[in-house]
Amino acid sequence: MEKTYDLLIFIGRFQPFHSGHQRVVQLALQQAKHVLILVGSSFKARDIKNPFTFGERQNMILESLEPQDIAHITIRPLRDYLYNDNKWMAEVQKHVDINSKFNDKIGVIGHDKDDSSWYLKAFPQWDFIEVGHSYDASIDATTIRNMWLSGQSPNFTSGVLRDSVHSFIYNKFIKREYERLVREYDTITKGKQQWKGTPYEVQFMTVDAVVVQSGHVLLVRRRAAPGEGLWAIPGGYLNANETFENGMLRELREETKIKVPEPVLRGCIKASHVFDAPNRSLRGRIVTRAYLIELPPGELPKVKGSDDAAKAKWIPLADFEKMEEEMFEDHHHIVSYFLGRV
Ligand code: NAD
Repeated sequence: MEKTYDLLIFIGRFQPFHSGHQRVVQLALQQAKHVLILVGSSFKARDIKNPFTFGERQNMILESLEPQDIAHITIRPLRDYLYNDNKWMAEVQKHVDINSKFNDKIGVIGHDKDDSSWYLKAFPQWDFIEVGHSYDASIDATTIRNMWLSGQSPNFTSGVLRDSVHSFIYNKFIKREYERLVREYDTITKGKQQWKGTPYEVQFMTVDAVVVQSGHVLLVRRRAAPGEGLWAIPGGYLNANETFENGMLRELREETKIKVPEPVLRGCIKASHVFDAPNRSLRGRIVTRAYLIELPPGELPKVKGSDDAAKAKWIPLADFEKMEEEMFEDHHHIVSYFLGRV
């Protein structure tokens, strides 16, 4: 049968890959010679919204498809650029260039489910193929994750996930990571309960410090959920009675005990920027103002983890670049933003 498209692109997080996603792939294969599956939000630390790595999701997809279909599928990881949609679109375009020829008929396939699906129509050079929601309204990755993390019966998800995917999640997933994610799920759920019923959605302000010196950046290791064990930039919630700058210096000194007098830190502030991606934190709507503090070259000042930080450490920038999958929330993006200016 003649196919309408040479290539259809299917973008998603697939956390986890379920029968709704599987149906979209089948529809894509009916219409296209080849399907490019781009696995979004790859190369980031596990959290309760993105618990599975690219490799784990790639396996889920391969194990959910029929062997004869796999020859017509390419699966690639796709990194998020939280503060640069153009860069993200360029990444998608690069993947498509590698997997297509000049004059190919190309389309993007998916379901425009809500505001977060805007990206489906962000590529005017390609057709958009709307597939509609799957017949079973219970097919929803958020519900599947919440049931898994709240320890509810696995029976619910058995028809929605392929047996191998179901078994991976419930029987083979790393126990230590599952327990960490359950603690994160509980902390976030309880935190949100506290603000339930307020007349307006509660929004929070935080402050963060990106301190650099002699090719190193100062990071802390988080003591507790959310993001327990992950690396972060020093920072925290703004107190009601302080300015952003004072709050940032307070948090920096509390968490790292940095041996630099406060007037010196204040004098070395080189820039500040507001980071406000609406989904940057799973705790709720949190807008942060981060500061770049560039200390003069020389011996690295002594630091010691304290308060919310189990550890504080000067990290060589070359190592930092490789730490994307160990960093909390959008902190890798925040440091990268400032490093472009250092
Ligand atoms: P998802 O896994 O929730 O959904 C993937 C696709 O499947 C979507 O088209 C969705 O509508 C469809 N789908 C889900 N359930 C379905 C069902 N039951 N029936 C039919 N269709 C169903 O993934 P997502 O969150 O939409 O993925 C988008 C990715 O793109 C994310 O990783 C996001 O971070 C990334 N993104 C990044 C940027 C940036 O970094 N600047 C910008 C836009 C998008």
